[in-house]
Amino acid sequence: MATNTEGHRSDEARSRRISFLRKLILVSIAASCLIPTGICIFLVMKNSHTNRMLEKAKSELSWYEEHYGEEALADGETDNPVEWHPKSAEDIAEDVREEEKTESDETPEGEPETDGELTESEPEADGAPTETDEAPPEETSSQETSDEEQGERDDKRRVYITFDDGPSTSTNTILDILDSYGVKATFFVTGKEGEEYESVYRRIAGSGHTLGMHSYSHKYSELYESLDSFSADLHKLQTYLYETTGVWSQYYRFPGGSSNTVSKVEMGKLINYLDLEDITYFDWNVASSDDRGGVNKDIIVANVMTGVPKFNEAIILLHDSADKPATVEALPEIIEQIQAMDDTVIVPITDDTLPVQHISNSQ
Ligand SMILES: [Zn+2]
Repeated sequence: MATNTEGHRSDEARSRRISFLRKLILVSIAASCLIPTGICIFLVMKNSHTNRMLEKAKSELSWYEEHYGEEALADGETDNPVEWHPKSAEDIAEDVREEEKTESDETPEGEPETDGELTESEPEADGAPTETDEAPPEETSSQETSDEEQGERDDKRRVYITFDDGPSTSTNTILDILDSYGVKATFFVTGKEGEEYESVYRRIAGSGHTLGMHSYSHKYSELYESLDSFSADLHKLQTYLYETTGVWSQYYRFPGGSSNTVSKVEMGKLINYLDLEDITYFDWNVASSDDRGGVNKDIIVANVMTGVPKFNEAIILLHDSADKPATVEALPEIIEQIQAMDDTVIVPITDDTLPVQHISNSQ
């Protein structure tokens, strides 16, 4: 009996061990499958995130290279925008005091000649990739459209086509296209001298388009050096445009947009200054990204037409620049597709335009 009982217990213990080992093996197999699977999923997600960050960084890098690299070369300067620092409050206060003093001493004709040396060739390097900015309404150019649309203002989507950086060798072609569709746009121009360009400024203003300002020199390192340099550049361009076209422009688009991070002066100070000068600045809410490398006509059209339906007041940023032929190619399709949209009108910026501003005037 005793032997039988012991034998029975021994069998039970063995079967428990076997059962335990079987479970252990099953758990091990399951773990050896699940753990690598989990690690794989984690790594795939991590990789995807890293790739996205890399793409973003690459696109930002190419923008900076395009925007500041070429410009710095053109200027013969080595300023690295990243190294710029905001001025101290004391410096800014000093700038404002000097500006006010300068202002009261200056006649409009007394353009400071120190800033904004302009090369005759297009400074096409100015990418304003982030500049999808909108332009301030021009008083003189778009009265008719503004009045026509007045009654339907609340009902219709208003689309503003704006061009930065002109005039260029492309401007007349752009104006021809706009004419052929009966569309008025807004040009944020820089200072280009010579009869050839002067006739282009006059054509812009004389055709009912809005003439806005985009700095005379379009050289970030000079423009954003101080409030003084900014105001000198502004007045130089404003006066030049007035003498050339008879239009006293009151609309401004900051090179790089109001949210640029390269200005040595706090942008709020510059915005305040524009306010005092009764100038409205416009950024943008629809970026065509036509200043990014490798974009073609189809991409520009797609970028614009993706953005426009999102806004009741859509301000499209395009560039008027000799090295951006794809923008000119895209323009007819952009206009046709917008004109095909229900309850949508294309209008130039006017005093009635609600500004799109990336940063508000908080000072
Ligand atoms: Zn620009």
